[in-house]
Amino acid sequence: MMPEHIKIQNQKIGLGEQRAIYLNIARLPTYTSIDLPVHFYRGEKDGPVLLLTGGLHGDEINGIEIIRRMIVNNKITPKRGTVIAIPLVNIYGFIQNVRGVPDGKDINRSFPGVKTGSLARILAYTLMNQVVPLIDYGIDFHTGGSNRSNYPQVRCDLSIDKNKELAEAFASPFIVQSKLLDKSFRKAAHKKGKHILVYEAGESMRYDDEGINEGIQGTLRLMHYLDMVDEAPDPHEPETLTKSSWIRAHYAGLFQQSIKLGQAVRRNQLLGYITDPFGNEQFKVKANRAGYVIGLNYTPVVHKGDALMHIGYNKS
Ligand SMILES: [Zn+2]
Repeated sequence: MMPEHIKIQNQKIGLGEQRAIYLNIARLPTYTSIDLPVHFYRGEKDGPVLLLTGGLHGDEINGIEIIRRMIVNNKITPKRGTVIAIPLVNIYGFIQNVRGVPDGKDINRSFPGVKTGSLARILAYTLMNQVVPLIDYGIDFHTGGSNRSNYPQVRCDLSIDKNKELAEAFASPFIVQSKLLDKSFRKAAHKKGKHILVYEAGESMRYDDEGINEGIQGTLRLMHYLDMVDEAPDPHEPETLTKSSWIRAHYAGLFQQSIKLGQAVRRNQLLGYITDPFGNEQFKVKANRAGYVIGLNYTPVVHKGDALMHIGYNKS
């Protein structure tokens, strides 16, 4: 339990208060100062502290929208405890529509960061030192890459009991086993005893309404589970997938899928075709195992070896 006041940057935020704090990061080359807005929503009563982060990757917009809609619909203020919301972490990448910061580095591979390191490591350091000490739990919102969409899913390390418990409370359509990646936000926070779930939905630079809604509903369910709010949307029966692998293109050409994202597939089921542009060749793409299509590449033009579909399954 947190003390009555949350302290950040020599400011105190009391119970029932809502306030934004601006963490100074680094100027743009134009000398425009860039401060990271961190919004605090404190309930009237004490309770857990939940962090919501979007846009750690600057071109992944759904998470930003999930947090924004929760703010405008008054769904972010808990009765008990505190929500700390950072809708857009990577302001630098966002204004360039790119995943990383302007030097190309990925913030989510730069944790725990260094005070005087590269820009990505400075941002990581700021989060780790100013924000993470205040929290108990977190949800970090992400999307797939360009033209590569993820069906709404929570990723966590199921071998960590608390992670599994929180993922089941979030109850998105899929829970996907995912190891803690080195230098990721999730792993750095885990080392400090803080549990962060990663939520994935949709693709970069594109809104995905279903994924946005699932993200809001899951967050409300998690808040309810943590006793921060009294009501929550009904849960799914989430499908827990302990393994996942990509089906890759065996041929170069034009790829047309005949299944939908989120769909269950059988072993050897026809998933689509790869054709040449002249109508001479047509190759079948088949499922190498039974499972669910949790990620799908919508790019029509593929090279041999390109990832076409992410299949989640259970080790039997
Ligand atoms: Zn991401």
